[in-house]
Amino acid sequence: MNNGTNDNSYKKIYNDLQIYETALHNANDIIILFSSDGNILKVNKKAINSYGYNEEELLSKNIFDLRNREKLELVNTQLEKAKLGEIEFETIHYRKDGSSFPVEVKSIGIEINNERFVLSIVIDITNRIKNEEEIRELASLYEELIAIEEELRINYQELEKAKEEADKANKAKSEFLANMSHEIRTPMNGIIGVIDLLKLTKLNNNQKDYLDMLSHSSRLLLGILNSVLDISKIESGKFQLNIKPFNLKKILDRIIKELSIACNSKKLEIFYYIDSYINFDLIGDEIRLNQVLINLINNAIKFTVKGQIVFRVKKLYSTNNKLILEFSVQDTGIGIKEEFKNDIFKKFVQQDMTYTKKYDGTGLGLAISRDIAKLMNGDIWFDSIENKGSIFYFTAEFLLDYTKDTHDENLGLSDKEMARNKTKKILIVEDNEINMKIACEIVNRLGYKFQCAYNGKQALQLLKEGPFDLILMDIQMPELNGYDTTKIIRKDEIGTQKHINIIAMTAYSMNGDRETCIEMGMDDYISKPFDINTLKNVIMKFI
Ligand code: ADP
Repeated sequence: MNNGTNDNSYKKIYNDLQIYETALHNANDIIILFSSDGNILKVNKKAINSYGYNEEELLSKNIFDLRNREKLELVNTQLEKAKLGEIEFETIHYRKDGSSFPVEVKSIGIEINNERFVLSIVIDITNRIKNEEEIRELASLYEELIAIEEELRINYQELEKAKEEADKANKAKSEFLANMSHEIRTPMNGIIGVIDLLKLTKLNNNQKDYLDMLSHSSRLLLGILNSVLDISKIESGKFQLNIKPFNLKKILDRIIKELSIACNSKKLEIFYYIDSYINFDLIGDEIRLNQVLINLINNAIKFTVKGQIVFRVKKLYSTNNKLILEFSVQDTGIGIKEEFKNDIFKKFVQQDMTYTKKYDGTGLGLAISRDIAKLMNGDIWFDSIENKGSIFYFTAEFLLDYTKDTHDENLGLSDKEMARNKTKKILIVEDNEINMKIACEIVNRLGYKFQCAYNGKQALQLLKEGPFDLILMDIQMPELNGYDTTKIIRKDEIGTQKHINIIAMTAYSMNGDRETCIEMGMDDYISKPFDINTLKNVIMKFI
């Protein structure tokens, strides 16, 4: 019975041990049992798979075969320590083929029947080490990034500081230049004034020539000073428009007069087209508008040897109180090379250094003009073909000036004057529908009676039908033009006491047109587009 009980309990122990051994044998980590001098006594499946030996071979090895032999002393110490208690460390284990892998070892000393053994659990930490290395690499990369960021931050701060200082220096330079140019301008004006006075005195031919040269150079110098003054004002942020009411017609008249003179002296043809319906009473900076137009026109003349200059003024857009105009200046000059097109608006830049000898100028005009155009809510741009010519466009916005009320019913005339005007009759001869409408509207508002003829023949017919006090006569008309019509009228007047006043209405004209009109028997002329006051004044001069 007793025996039977003992048998059963042995069996149970044996069974338990078998379960235990199976578990150890199949464990996920390497498990090795060493004798006290390091010989391998027992290994599990994982150990056999990990070291590349078969079980028999592995059981003939000892701890030193798994470790680096050079570390004999260390291995011995670790073995001794493990025998007496337990020890944990990381090391390298070697396979049969000489390759190695990192491991974490947990060894514990055990005693069975008074004999000491060491049981080691060995964990392959290849992946952990790899992960740790990757993490370390990432960490160092991160540190490098932080360092770069810091360096960039410092650089940026330094750059900001340098930029601030450069801006300050630049502003100081611009202010200095502005002050200098301003200071020099005053005596320059004195010099130019004295030159003009000297010209009025009695001079011999040599002296006259010298004085002309002096005059030319000092005006050139004044021009340069003005440009430098403008550009420095723009750069130091002190450039402002001087906005006030002005009359565009007056500016255009003056510009075209100057353009005509300059073109005549270079034997260039000029053409100009001005939209009929432009309101001339505007609010804006007339000086700066004039400056941009003169610059574009001067360039066109300067860079054109033969051919023509065309000046156009177009109404682009208008609202109740605003007007946007597009001015354009076209030439048949040297044009602009492709490679220079991007630089043309840069300061102090001219197309070709040889041109600077041939053509005077500073290379500032277009830079200033573009800034002015921007201040006027407009722009400047161009099209150009080398050796064919260029066209520069300039747009600007203006306010309409309603204080000049051209819709005043009586146009400043007293009732008496209006009553008198009603007794006078005017013949308007004009083939262009729009121009005719404008002329009729004005004449009507001035109180005169009027009739319209669309060519010379019609005019002569109407003259036969009844008397007129004055004729407003267009020059270019089909059938019979203004000159020929006038000639016929004057011929008919020969031998009579009659002389009807004829006022020519010409398109903007070349120099000498006035003389031609008078020669052809006309009494006066006005140029289109005319404003209401000009027409009123010229009519009132004669009736
Ligand atoms: P500037 O006329 O004083 O030299 P600008 O700024 O007005 O200065 O013009 C810069 C340069 O652009 C000129 O020197 C010239 O080379 C070129 N340019 C301007 N207008 C014309 C044009 N109509 N035809 C050809 N080149 C032109």
